Amino acid sequence: MKRNKASGGDPKYMNKILESLMASHKAPIWIYVLLLVLYLGASAIILGTAGVKQPLNIMGFEMPVYAFAGVFSALSNICIIFMVVYYGKLGFFSSLVILLMQFPILLTAIFKRHNISGLPGTFTNALTIVAIIVIHYNNMRIEKYQERLREQAVTDRLTSLPNRFACSEMLNDLIKRKEKFALVSIDLNGFKSINDTMGFKTGNDVLCQIADRWRVIADVETKGTVDFVARVNGDEFMLIIRGYRNDDELKKAVAKYESVLSEKLTVDGCDFYLTASFGYAEFPKDAKTSDAMFMCADAAMYEVKRINSSNHILRFTPELIKTERTLDIERMIRNALENDTIFFNLQPQFDLSHKLRGFEALARLKDENGNNISPGEFIPVAEKVGLIDRVDAAVFRKSSEFFGDLLKKSGAKISLSVNTSVRHLMKNDFLDELNTIIKSSGVPAGQLEIEITESVMIDSPEKALQCINSIKEMGIKIAIDDFGTGYSSLSYLYRFPADLLKVDKSFIDKINSSTSSKEYVASIISIGHIMGYQVISEGVEEDDQLETLRSIGCDLIQGYVWGRPLMPEAAEELVMQSAAE
Ligand code: C2E
Ligand code: CA
Ligand code: CA
Repeated sequence: MKRNKASGGDPKYMNKILESLMASHKAPIWIYVLLLVLYLGASAIILGTAGVKQPLNIMGFEMPVYAFAGVFSALSNICIIFMVVYYGKLGFFSSLVILLMQFPILLTAIFKRHNISGLPGTFTNALTIVAIIVIHYNNMRIEKYQERLREQAVTDRLTSLPNRFACSEMLNDLIKRKEKFALVSIDLNGFKSINDTMGFKTGNDVLCQIADRWRVIADVETKGTVDFVARVNGDEFMLIIRGYRNDDELKKAVAKYESVLSEKLTVDGCDFYLTASFGYAEFPKDAKTSDAMFMCADAAMYEVKRINSSNHILRFTPELIKTERTLDIERMIRNALENDTIFFNLQPQFDLSHKLRGFEALARLKDENGNNISPGEFIPVAEKVGLIDRVDAAVFRKSSEFFGDLLKKSGAKISLSVNTSVRHLMKNDFLDELNTIIKSSGVPAGQLEIEITESVMIDSPEKALQCINSIKEMGIKIAIDDFGTGYSSLSYLYRFPADLLKVDKSFIDKINSSTSSKEYVASIISIGHIMGYQVISEGVEEDDQLETLRSIGCDLIQGYVWGRPLMPEAAEELVMQSAAE
């Protein structure tokens, strides 16, 4: 095939790849040995019984010996033909030698010993030689043609590297042999802009030069690992690495490809400095089929692109797999953000005398058919794909605007709590956002509450603390959400300048079924009070729970027992009603 000049594609590399791909398709050598033994055995019987005149007695029937000679002669010819058909040059030459060697024996029998029973054998031998020459000649023609087709089918035309088909063949073969290996998915960063600004020809030359660099590394046999590099599509490459002993060696092997890529590359007088995203998965640890291996390596590679960090090599982890449902939800969140259709509910909070204390704003999202999607489902997706800060901001903006109007109308002294994810809280402009919201909505800072979970103190405690302090300085309250489910420890609690502790529903659920649960909640309430916090219990559903909470000194409650999350209009009614009481 035509090889690309710029790539200087090395035919030896491709031959090696082809050989290893074909290795598993060759007929096993033990069958060749068996055919040879069968042939020699049958020939020995023919020769050994050539002079025997006496008939053989088999189960009472007398049979002439030459009748058996015919059977063995047919058997030996079949063996020869199989050898030539299935074992190429080896089968052909060994058959030819065997057949030629028989001539002296047969001819001596005929001419010296005047034994004409060898005559048919001589003719059969000569004709078999003609037959195997014809078969072999034909075989060679087909093989050459197949080789050309095979090479084209497994070679990438531009770079002369193996293509995606070769890569999956190699993968399937390794999987069949249960050999440990890593599959690395590589995607060049910003390659599109080279194509767009410099044209396809330059883009192609860049790809060929990269292929050449990587081929050289893959071909070095002394580096400790056995590598296979393929171009699978556009600017996407795949690497198969074998023979490493541990994760460290594997990472080092991948890093070699990254390091040669980052060296200056010159095409048409222009210098390029390229980087790529590398994601890898291991067989059999991460996946067991070739499709799944491709998917896992790609998922890791896409994550590298998504997080856009300076580390360009990432190992696959199961959390990276997005199910179809996750993708659906991600799409719905994006649509809702674009069309500004994310909305909110308000769940009332009361003190234990049933006086309204305020509301918690809860995000709501509907699918195309108008069905609600549970926040338990879409909030984790928004967190995973990095959209949670935008969801938070939308709920914050909309609910505070509504709440500002409601306060003006009712004059009620109630508060609005909003959930804030770590990602949102840590944004540099979070405080500006708060200021803008306070100004535009007219909600006094003292009636606003930010709910955060304890995890913010684990992720980056210093920055979180700084941020929380600034929020408090603005007069806004802080609530610690889902208390008891995270990494709660007294030292965190001590450093957290909060106003409210929200005891998680899971503790309230068990409060009346075991004394230890009741004691546990009682001690959270006491500690909260010692720290100077108010304590609210979440998810209170029954009167019994209410009574117990009252008896252990809980300050506030939020739960279905006194109020489900409400549409804003219903929340307004509730406020007006309680103002009138
Ligand atoms: P959360 O902050 O702990 O909110 C309380 C959740 O408990 C709400 O679920 C509420 O409807 C539910 N709940 C309240 N009382 C009861 C009860 O008596 N029984 C039962 N079974 N459930 C009760 P929801 O609205 O499904 O929200 C789930 C979670 O989603 C929230 O838990 C919160 O972590 C998150 N979330 C909701 N809105 C937002 C938001 O705007 N931003 C962020 N970052 N997270 C949000
Ligand atoms: Ca909450
Ligand atoms: Ca909660």
